[in-house]
Amino acid sequence: MRNLKKIDIAKPFLSVDEWRAIKKPIQNGWVTQGKMVTDFESSFSNFHKTPYALATTSCTTALHLGLIALGVKPGDEVIVPSFTWISTANVVEYCGAKPIFADVDPSTFNLDFDDVKKKLTKKTKVIIPVHLFGLCCDIIKLREIIPKNVKILEDAACASGSKFFNNFAGNIGDAATFSFHPRKIITTGEGGMLSTKSKKIYDEICKLRNMGASISDAQRHFGPTPYILPEFKILGYNYRMTDIQAAIGISQMKKLKIIISRRKEMAAFYSESLSNIDWLILPKTPKNFSHAWQAYVTIVDPKKAPAKRNTIMETLEKKGISTRPGTQAVHMLGYYKKKYNIKSNDLPKSKFCYQNSMAIPLHNNLSLKDLKYVVKCIKNLDSKKNKI
Ligand SMILES: *Cc1c(COP(=O)(O)O)cnc(C)c1O
Repeated sequence: MRNLKKIDIAKPFLSVDEWRAIKKPIQNGWVTQGKMVTDFESSFSNFHKTPYALATTSCTTALHLGLIALGVKPGDEVIVPSFTWISTANVVEYCGAKPIFADVDPSTFNLDFDDVKKKLTKKTKVIIPVHLFGLCCDIIKLREIIPKNVKILEDAACASGSKFFNNFAGNIGDAATFSFHPRKIITTGEGGMLSTKSKKIYDEICKLRNMGASISDAQRHFGPTPYILPEFKILGYNYRMTDIQAAIGISQMKKLKIIISRRKEMAAFYSESLSNIDWLILPKTPKNFSHAWQAYVTIVDPKKAPAKRNTIMETLEKKGISTRPGTQAVHMLGYYKKKYNIKSNDLPKSKFCYQNSMAIPLHNNLSLKDLKYVVKCIKNLDSKKNKI
């Protein structure tokens, strides 16, 4: 048996650049939130053409602060898609509010607007549309179908650098949050960013992420009045990013454009090479949308596939190719199922995506040879040639 190369589902694009970048904070000793974080925020906001960007410990914590700043309180309802990463719903629970699950459209994996309309009530305070796998949810259209007082918090965890109708992800909603977990487009190990056009939201989140303090550590440290300690008028959190992470982030930002353009090429290669497999439904990018391809997520058509999805995934795993379900249907996960007594068929399309989606390897360390090998192995699964 030949020694199989393992083709990972995802792998961060890190190099000696990031290694060099972290030397600075380590040498000068300022390792918590400081100048590096400010520079990372500037770089992120310049790229995404957003007035304000605030780094946090993760996208989850950025979402939490976003909901607080948008005024979500116990008794409120927040509409979230079911087919997403669990954080999108968890942050609603952190605020003591109720997540209301809406279904998704399997052709985009994003919110199904007809179902959103059905889920709106007088208690709806915020909607969290998710730009899943790097494809933007059409927030302009969403804005048109919801009441004016309902706020939009974009979950752009997978969508650094994604665009639609020439708007970057995060530029239409009241606020937006991004993730720098290693499975996302760029990484800082763990890390997140909140972007907004609102000075008011910006000012509030500056305090919220720093224990509620009226001034930051850096302001105190470098300021002329050593006797002044911050005032704490609100309940805050420690959701600060470190300068070590931000140094990595600055380095990653320099590569964001090239990271995405290479991902586009890889996705185009898959879409071309896999197009005539009748049991594999490939992801499509609607006109005027620019996909960042955080993941390349297919659907294994249960009626036509040569075997069950899980068997196909196992077969590919044996050939050294990692695959994963796109994500989960959060309404079917224990905590939510039990707490809200939701049936799996209440959101049938989310359930369908959960059970039939299959992400195949796509990351910036793959070679054309790797991609060709993935294509060959998937083609060999075809029922006519090779019964599983
Ligand atoms: C990854 C992800 C998150 C959470 O991001 P973290 O930075 O790991 O907290 C939230 N929402 C979606 C859609 C994600 O994919």
